[in-house]
Amino acid sequence: MAIKEITCKTALHYHNKKISTNWDLNIYRGCAHRCVYCFAQYSHKYLDTDQFFDDIFVKTNVADALNADFSKRSWKGDTVKVCGVTDAYQPLEKKYVLMPKIIRTFIRYKNPMTIATKSTLLLRDIDLLEELNEVAGVSVCASVSVIDEFIREKIEPFSSPTVDRLNMLGELNKRGICVGALMMPIIPYLTDGVENLDAIFKLAKENGARFIHPQLLHLRGNTKKVFYGYMSKLFPELLEKIKPLYVGSYADENYREAFEREIKNLRRKHNFYNEIYKNEDENKKIQLKLL
Ligand code: SF4
Repeated sequence: MAIKEITCKTALHYHNKKISTNWDLNIYRGCAHRCVYCFAQYSHKYLDTDQFFDDIFVKTNVADALNADFSKRSWKGDTVKVCGVTDAYQPLEKKYVLMPKIIRTFIRYKNPMTIATKSTLLLRDIDLLEELNEVAGVSVCASVSVIDEFIREKIEPFSSPTVDRLNMLGELNKRGICVGALMMPIIPYLTDGVENLDAIFKLAKENGARFIHPQLLHLRGNTKKVFYGYMSKLFPELLEKIKPLYVGSYADENYREAFEREIKNLRRKHNFYNEIYKNEDENKKIQLKLL
C-alpha cells in the first residue's frame, strides 16, 4: 500500500444530494478496508491513480482546514457527515490519529456531526464523542452487511467483525449517543438470507439502534468490474447467478420488490421503525431521516 500525505485548502465539501445533510468531511482519499463492493471508488477518478484500495491519500492538515471552514462568517453550523465517501476509521487512522483533532474542532464550534464506519476503532474516541454530543449532538452509524465471519472476512477483509460493530453501538448508546445501522450493501444470494438480515435487525435493536437503513448492492461505474473480479475468485458459482440481476447498475426490479417485502416483515417482527432524532435542545438539532 502506498501512503501519500497531502494538504487540503478546505475540509468541508458541499453536495447537492441531501442524505441527512449536504455537508461531507473526508479525511482520507481511498480506503484500505478493501470491501469488494466499494461504491466510493469513483472518488479516485480525479487523481493520478485508480488504485482506490492501495493508494491512500492522507489530508494531514485537515483539522486546521476544518477550523478555518468553521470560523467563516458564512458557515451556518449545519450537521456534517464524516465518512460520506471514505472511512475515517480505516486502518491508517491508528497511525495518523486525525479524528480526535477533528472531533475537538467540532466541540470548539459546537457543531453537530453524523458519522458512519465499519471499524470499532471509533471507540478510541468515545469520550470526545460523548463531549460533542453534550454540546452539539452526534449520531453514529455502524455500516454492516453480514454476520457470518467467514463471508465477512472475504468481502470486507480489513473491517471489524460485524458483531463487534453492532456491539459498539451499545457502548455509544450507553453514553447517550444516537446510534443506528446502515445495512448495506446486501449482496443477492450471498448476504440476503433471512437469517442474516434477521440477526442484524435483532442485534441492532438490542444495542439501542434508533434506525436501520437496508440497501441492496448497486454496481455503478468501475465498481461492477472490481466486484465481478473479486467474486469470480471468491464465489464463482454465485457470480453467475448475480450477473443476470445486474443488467444495469441496480438489481432487477422483481428481486428488489421481494427484498423490500422481506425488510417490511423484519421491521414488523422487530418493531423497528426509523426515528427522526432531535436533540432536546432545538438549537442542537440533528436530523437523521435516512429512510
Ligand atoms: S469502508 Fe466504505 S469506503 Fe472503505 S472500502 Fe469499505 S465500502 Fe469502501
